[in-house]
Amino acid sequence: MTYDVAIVGSGFSAIALTINFLRYLPPGASIAVIGDDPGFGRGTAYRTEFYLHRLNVPAARMSVFPDKPDDFVEWLRRRGKPVFAEDFASRGDYGLYLRDTLAAHLKPRAQRAQVDFIRAKATSCITCEEEGLTFRLDNGTGLSARNVVLALGVGTASLPISERKIASELAGQTVINPWRLGWLSRVEPDDEICVFGSGLTMIDQVLSLKAQGHRGIVHVLSRRGLVPQAHPRRRPAAVAPELPESREISVLLHELRKQAETVEDWRSVFDGLRPQTQALWQSLSDAQRSRFLRHALPWWSIHRHRVAPDVHERFSELVAEGIVKIHAGYVRDIEADADGRAVVTYRQRGRDTVAAFDADWIVNCTGMERAGIGHSPLLQAMRDRGMIAMDPLRLGITVDNGSRVVGPDGTVQRGLYAAGALTAGQFWEITAVPDIRVQAEAVARQAAEEIIRRLPQQARSA
Ligand SMILES: Cc1cc2nc3c(=O)[nH]c(=O)nc-3n(C[C@H](O)[C@H](O)[C@H](O)COP(=O)(O)OP(=O)(O)OC[C@H]3O[C@@H](n4cnc5c(N)ncnc54)[C@H](O)[C@@H]3O)c2cc1C
Repeated sequence: MTYDVAIVGSGFSAIALTINFLRYLPPGASIAVIGDDPGFGRGTAYRTEFYLHRLNVPAARMSVFPDKPDDFVEWLRRRGKPVFAEDFASRGDYGLYLRDTLAAHLKPRAQRAQVDFIRAKATSCITCEEEGLTFRLDNGTGLSARNVVLALGVGTASLPISERKIASELAGQTVINPWRLGWLSRVEPDDEICVFGSGLTMIDQVLSLKAQGHRGIVHVLSRRGLVPQAHPRRRPAAVAPELPESREISVLLHELRKQAETVEDWRSVFDGLRPQTQALWQSLSDAQRSRFLRHALPWWSIHRHRVAPDVHERFSELVAEGIVKIHAGYVRDIEADADGRAVVTYRQRGRDTVAAFDADWIVNCTGMERAGIGHSPLLQAMRDRGMIAMDPLRLGITVDNGSRVVGPDGTVQRGLYAAGALTAGQFWEITAVPDIRVQAEAVARQAAEEIIRRLPQQARSA
């Protein structure tokens, strides 16, 4: 059979798309969701059950529906969770909310479109003129759909050092993907840990370690040693900044800094900028965007992607006690000593000196890859067939403002959409729920209108 729409992916983007397609498509339509994640809809972010793995966005902004902002807060209250709109709920609860919300939309079976969940990974795609797109799946089957939304998320970033430069004896103590949490259970209480990366993933992993009674030193090494800022306990009102005419990054940053100094809490200006961020990004030239990525990104990330206040407090205590040591520099090599421990050598930032520390574990917390396509054989196959093009800064794939995929010749690919971080080249701010939910609704509405136009009259009015 040929589905009306196939959603490829199994994280938040896929679940938000599925729910919105169920809202907009009539019962005669058919949807396939192709995903390889057993906890469908929870993805890496919302699969955790650890209470200190908290959302980094207040509960009031995490509803799946942009037009029903209280949906998540009400779900929490119905379950007796005393969470206020401005609180940072647990990511595990958010995963359950997603599961329940999807289940509620699947219930009225007779009055909704058909949905088939296919547990598989799409590995390649072959165009087929009349029938839309046909995918090969890693379970040996194939699947065709007239409309497709690619919602593949991002892969895990690689280590900041070639694996060849890590002594081979250390393979068993090197954790490339920390989200496979199995590694935590192998850590001894006094083991020393080397974490590469100092962002949100690092904080999650350090707190998980400490919660299981780990006492050893954690060395955190990143190029700048910058750590995410905290959300305040009481959120200040957002103040929309006045943007200058100039789109030079240095002028923009200077102006934002100046305005942040005039308010009580700099976060109000940052929060006030948020609704303007996508338009601001789209008004920058490629050269200006590239300058932003080269010079401002690490600063942007720690101010923009903040952590819940109590999570930040707990982490800061560990730093103050000297249990977490933050190093700024560039890793040079990782050798094994006579006891099989790692000796990590790095050049210190801003100096010519080389420093070193020992560790029992090497853990990659460099976070998510800026989407790109390196993590996905499917995207590479589609690129090779001329179906998709990388955006100029290699942040993801090229799409238009309606999230429709644009091919290498600049024409919109009929019936092919992308959602989530893959579209960062066009939208920049598109990795978190408040933005993806808006995109998912718009894509589903737009694609559903097309599908309904082409459905036989009987199915359309059903
Ligand atoms: C630890 C962590 C915490 C976060 N916390 C927050 C938060 O508090 N608030 C917030 O708004 N955002 C948060 N985020 C951002 C988060 O990325 C988004 O909220 C959202 O989960 C992104 O969903 P996604 O579906 O686009 O991507 P993903 O969650 O990455 O899901 C993509 C899915 O597609 C599957 N897939 C990939 N390729 C294929 C293929 N070829 N065939 C089939 N399936 C495929 C993958 O296996 C994966 O399951 C967090 C992210 C992380 C990693």
